Amino acid sequence: MLLTSGSAPKFYKTFFVALLASFTLFLRLSKGLEVPAMPNNAERTFIMIKPDGVQRGIVGEIIKRFEQRGFKLIALKLVHASVPHLEKHYEDLKDKPFFPGLIKYMNAGPVVATVWEGLDAVKTGRTILGTTNPLASAPGTIRGDFALAVGRNVCHGSDSIENAEKEITLWFPEGVVQYTDVKAQWIFE
Ligand code: UDP
Ligand code: MG
Repeated sequence: MLLTSGSAPKFYKTFFVALLASFTLFLRLSKGLEVPAMPNNAERTFIMIKPDGVQRGIVGEIIKRFEQRGFKLIALKLVHASVPHLEKHYEDLKDKPFFPGLIKYMNAGPVVATVWEGLDAVKTGRTILGTTNPLASAPGTIRGDFALAVGRNVCHGSDSIENAEKEITLWFPEGVVQYTDVKAQWIFE
């Protein structure tokens, strides 16, 4: 291409803009994580009401909070879990000093095992429950409203999508229940 003295600055400007745009695109593509992810309305989490929650009669209260937030209940059962089952559920904590006490606590009575589906279910589920130590849990969270001691914190929630799927398979090997959630169109955009 022949550049006349007048068109040269315009050519270089266009060239640099194109170069910058290509570089930006390259950076975005190479860091795939930065491309905004589609919202996942079908994320699932495993929420369990522990034996103290069952004995204290707050099963309905805990379930109510997940229902009213807009999550879809897709599995639920009352079960007195065996020691090996609980050891499997908490296998990541087997080396912790509180592990034997935790298994004894969890085996002391029935638990209510549930699975909930909805946008950001894992993280939001943990927010609804509060922090592990109820003394640090904000009022308005389940632990912040109903518990004081870390070893009697009334509920469990999965801490990652990967662990949620593992826990759902462990507690519901028969699978969850498929049905149409008629309220979903009024909860999700
Ligand atoms: N736990 C305990 N003492 C501790 C830490 C945890 O008794 O110092 C119990 C508590 O019941 C907790 C459970 O072990 O809910 C699992 O611990 P994790 O760190 O996974 O907390 P969570 O995910 O339940 O908030
Ligand atoms: Mg945990």
